Amino acid sequence: MSRTIHTDVLVLGSGAGGGTVAQTLAPLVASGKRVLLVEKGGRVDHGRLSGREVECAALFYAGGGARPSADHTVSMAYAEGLGGSTQVYTGTSLPPPERIISGWRVPGLAHADLAARARRFAAQNGADFIPRDRINDNNRLFKEGCEALGWKAEQFPINVRGCKGSSLCNLGCPNNAKQGTRQVQIPEAQRQGVEVVTRAEAWTIKADGGGAEVEVRVDGAPHADGSEGEWLPGRYTVKAHSVVVACGAVNSPALLLRSGLGAELPALGRWWTCHPAHILAGLHPHPITNFVGHPKSYVWQERVEAERYFLEACMYFPFTTAKNLTGFGEAHERLMRAYDRLQMILVLACDEALPEQRIDIDRQGRPVIRYALTAKTLEAMVRATRAAARIFFAAGAEAVHAPSARPTLIERSEGADLEARIALRHFRPGSVSVSAAHLMGGCRMGVDSAASVTDGRGRVHRHPWLFVADASLFPSALEINPYLTVMALADRVGEAVAEREGASLPVGA
Ligand SMILES: Cc1cc2nc3c(=O)[nH]c(=O)nc-3n(C[C@H](O)[C@H](O)[C@H](O)COP(=O)(O)OP(=O)(O)OC[C@H]3O[C@@H](n4cnc5c(N)ncnc54)[C@H](O)[C@@H]3O)c2cc1C
Ligand code: SF4
Repeated sequence: MSRTIHTDVLVLGSGAGGGTVAQTLAPLVASGKRVLLVEKGGRVDHGRLSGREVECAALFYAGGGARPSADHTVSMAYAEGLGGSTQVYTGTSLPPPERIISGWRVPGLAHADLAARARRFAAQNGADFIPRDRINDNNRLFKEGCEALGWKAEQFPINVRGCKGSSLCNLGCPNNAKQGTRQVQIPEAQRQGVEVVTRAEAWTIKADGGGAEVEVRVDGAPHADGSEGEWLPGRYTVKAHSVVVACGAVNSPALLLRSGLGAELPALGRWWTCHPAHILAGLHPHPITNFVGHPKSYVWQERVEAERYFLEACMYFPFTTAKNLTGFGEAHERLMRAYDRLQMILVLACDEALPEQRIDIDRQGRPVIRYALTAKTLEAMVRATRAAARIFFAAGAEAVHAPSARPTLIERSEGADLEARIALRHFRPGSVSVSAAHLMGGCRMGVDSAASVTDGRGRVHRHPWLFVADASLFPSALEINPYLTVMALADRVGEAVAEREGASLPVGA
């Protein structure tokens, strides 16, 4: 039996985009409008997290954190559940880059406006620098290695309140210290009367009079964390005057494709990017603090424009580390046994937005990620690997594990020969573990329906009742950590929705 629910505004998804747009629209409730947020995943109780790697990954991530591209060369990490990927992000809080936003040339989208909004969300989320005396050796060595080479590492502002340095950020913070939409924007939206329904998946959207009709499915199967949804299992028809799609860069294009919008919007699902990344490890002669303390304090991005990559200090859990180190046998064991002596760096490539890199759907309507590593991306990753190896050696590492070297372990005595040791011919897609957590595009903003899906306010071309408010709006890769830009864009979309609803929002609501 299908039940019918009426609302003025329906927001789909509760991550960086959906949670933010719900907060922006919350003042509408006081003027008599109904605002309903529907989220596919459950409400994980962060206070009960065990910190066990495989168990926590299964609670939060789609596909356990390794949703593969169709060709199985890249695994995509994104979370499903109240708060979306902000539950598992590391919390590095960087403003939108001027060069990229201006380069998008989206009419009406000014960098200064986006930057001002991002500052507001950074403040809301308590983004600040971690005091120097709480930065662990893994991060300190990254900075010192850069300095020894004459390169400038920048410190990330991190959005934590009461961080205990457990280093578990990507498994959901058990101390509720990391601030995301689950902790900040959604509670504020609910306080003002926005209704939140979890474990309910929007399946299709179709036009209905001046608004839309959305099919929502609640399956009621037990969730690993024991949380229950607010609605009884079954199918629901939600009739809404305005619909905001914020299901993330994989699921938003998939939902719109499933809803039959692909024919009239040829750009839908396309120009998809993800900052493909992999881990490098440097082996130090003595133990360092690496798996305690906040994992990510520094970024080196001086070569991002010319060489298409940036490097970040990082630290991953034992299973993820073992999976990501290339090779097996003795060399692999040597590194894993020396886990407390490992320094880690994440190499991130700035991949080109191309129409053939896209989200598609299978016969059941589920997303298929048709993404391939291009020659340009692989070359950038190789250049990045050489730069990271230099940082490790400058920081005192005795050996460096590089997936694009053969053998993969480079001894310190070979440090002068990195150009030859680290080479493109060794980087065979599929044999190196590449993953991505900055998923972008598929509903790109632009001028018209020939080459874009929405305008600069997230309004889907020719569908005045339909909006997109998440990372799928990006016309190309952001070339830096994206969540504050997603929030700033979602805030603008919220204003456009309020305008359609005939409501004005308080300035800087
Ligand atoms: C491990 C990891 C670390 C990261 N670290 C950082 C960082 O330090 N700094 C930074 O800036 N960025 C970081 N990011 C990226 C950042 O989290 C994302 O860019 C951002 O959350 C994207 O926002 P979004 O709204 O597009 O999608 P998401 O936040 O992923 O939210 C999408 C939501 O939609 C829901 N949904 C999907 N389909 C449906 C449906 N059909 N119906 C209803 N709901 C649906 C999902 O369950 C999910 O909750 C990280 C990401 C990951 C995975
Ligand atoms: S390091 Fe801080 S923010 Fe990260 S999981 Fe631990 S307490 Fe939470």
